Amino acid sequence: SIKPLVAGNWKMNGLKTDLGIAAEIARGHDGALRTKVDLAICPPATLLYPMTAALIGSRIATGGQDCSLRDSGAFTGEVSAAMLADAGAQYAIVGHSERRTLHGERDATVKAKAQAAQAALLVPIVCVGETKDEREAGKALAVVKKQLRGSVPEGSTGATLVVAYEPVWAIGTGLTPTTADVAEMHAAIRADLGRILGKAAAASVRLLYGGSVKPSNAAELMGVSDVDGALVGGASLKAEDFLGIARAC
Ligand code: 13P
Repeated sequence: SIKPLVAGNWKMNGLKTDLGIAAEIARGHDGALRTKVDLAICPPATLLYPMTAALIGSRIATGGQDCSLRDSGAFTGEVSAAMLADAGAQYAIVGHSERRTLHGERDATVKAKAQAAQAALLVPIVCVGETKDEREAGKALAVVKKQLRGSVPEGSTGATLVVAYEPVWAIGTGLTPTTADVAEMHAAIRADLGRILGKAAAASVRLLYGGSVKPSNAAELMGVSDVDGALVGGASLKAEDFLGIARAC
């Protein structure tokens, strides 16, 4: 079975004074919890280097929240995957719905970013998920399947890829899908990854659920088959909540 990963996406939150949250999470990630679950924190790029330094001696990884699809050059404001790796990151979230919606990122862009991350030896956390309208129209599975086909680099394995299913309507809303809907979607994602990557590789890819995960609903969501961890937004900004979710795995 796959060791679960709980990753925190801090989004555009966090100043130097918040590095203590990471230190507190590291203190709580003790022997028993370490054996059970891997943790990662994806702070804003400005905090990657000091947070990675603050986490030395722990087993907690850091990650970027996005990366450029380009290597280097005249791209003002962009951060390359190699820069994230240089700052200590092991992961890069790509294709988050906030990037897809607010920055118009399409599947081909997400795939190029995932490939750029892999080229820099980062593990991309590729996000997919349907909107409320798409779910209500009965199109959730088809939408996610199309996103996967367009966003996942061929040749990826469990060592080089994480996929996060984040229904857009569940992000920051307190709403979550039923466990039956999560089970159906994660099984469909696994099956589809099998067609893209081959069965063996697909079986080892961690499939995270994201969207309003909190300590009170984590055990139920993490208990669903084919759920190999969580991508956590708001609750990752409080050490006790983040650890509570980790313990629920
Ligand atoms: P919330 O946990 O705040 O709903 O955010 C989920 C998310 O978007 C993580 O990437």
